[in-house]
Amino acid sequence: MRCFWVEKSESGEVTSSLTDKPVSILDSSDTSEPRIRIQVQYSSLNYKDAMAATGHPGIVRHFPHIPGIDAVGRVIQSQDAAFPVGAEVIVTGNQLGVTHFGAWAEQIDVPVSWAVPLPESLTPLQSMALGTAGFTAAQCVAALIDHGVTPESGSVVVTGATGGVASLAISLLVKLGYSVVAVTGKQSEHEALKQRGVDHVLSRSEFIDDSRRPLLSAAYAGAVDTVGGTMLETLLRSTQYRGCVAACGLTGGAELNTTVYPFLLRGVTLCGIDSAMCPMPIRKKIWQRLSSDWKLDDLDSLTEIVPMDELSSMVSKILAGGMVGRAVIQI
Ligand code: NDP
Repeated sequence: MRCFWVEKSESGEVTSSLTDKPVSILDSSDTSEPRIRIQVQYSSLNYKDAMAATGHPGIVRHFPHIPGIDAVGRVIQSQDAAFPVGAEVIVTGNQLGVTHFGAWAEQIDVPVSWAVPLPESLTPLQSMALGTAGFTAAQCVAALIDHGVTPESGSVVVTGATGGVASLAISLLVKLGYSVVAVTGKQSEHEALKQRGVDHVLSRSEFIDDSRRPLLSAAYAGAVDTVGGTMLETLLRSTQYRGCVAACGLTGGAELNTTVYPFLLRGVTLCGIDSAMCPMPIRKKIWQRLSSDWKLDDLDSLTEIVPMDELSSMVSKILAGGMVGRAVIQI
């Protein structure tokens, strides 16, 4: 079984390589629930995968490890009639590629409760162009809608705008008729973002306000934040009365220094978004939307297909903040 293998030496050095391992490494003694084995067709590259590939202690607790939090493929062994051999399934999040061997491998073996049937109107490639990033973007947009942010409420800011989650959030928001303001650190991508339907593009440095003023001009109805840190602090202080900030990421930092004024004086909601442990009823609903009324027309143009032997260089690229759009991994 070809896989991306991450090891840690006794001296603590983490190394990775593309290698062959016997499929028996996937055998599980866990009999607590039925399992399925999947022949993986595509995986994807998420920021979390890159953290796992470099042995980040917040993600990887046991070595050796195989990253890959997203998978689509066919069932080749099944202990559950609901997912017979030959069925096409998606697995995203849960513990895949975290405590569990992940999908940067030709096969995965997972509890059946992690699997979602591949929606008929999505191809396997499209499902991984979305992957955890699309799922997270959709959850962020759903959170804004649930908190009353409509296209009439005002503009929605998307931060880390060229990354995977943010690119898909922009596509969804534009499709749903929102006016979108994109914040990016990549000067070279301003024009491309406008061509994708973004109304205004701001550079990261001009957007972030590091004054300690508790409130800034109430400019935005909502936000999808993939960056965290001072970006999220600025967003909270810039959100208008009863607006909502959906916070899902930490590429700019895990710290959050804020006052309570945005919450007390403007009724701002800070809505946390988690995709890994999202309950199955919500998970199915989000995939159903992404394959019907929220199906994106521009997925192909946002997606690069990457062979497994380019994984190492892609890991370096995403950790350096260099991603534009989504990378689907051809397994
Ligand atoms: P990407 O690397 O594809 O996108 C991240 C983007 O953030 C980059 O393209 C860049 O955009 C911006 N960025 C990178 N470094 C910095 C920095 N130092 N300061 C400010 N901005 C920076 O990652 P993903 O889209 O896969 O993930 C985005 C974030 O969302 C990650 O933190 C990830 O862990 C998190 N996430 C959380 C999930 C959840 O369940 N809560 C699920 C999925 C992702 P630009 O150059 O345009 O500014």
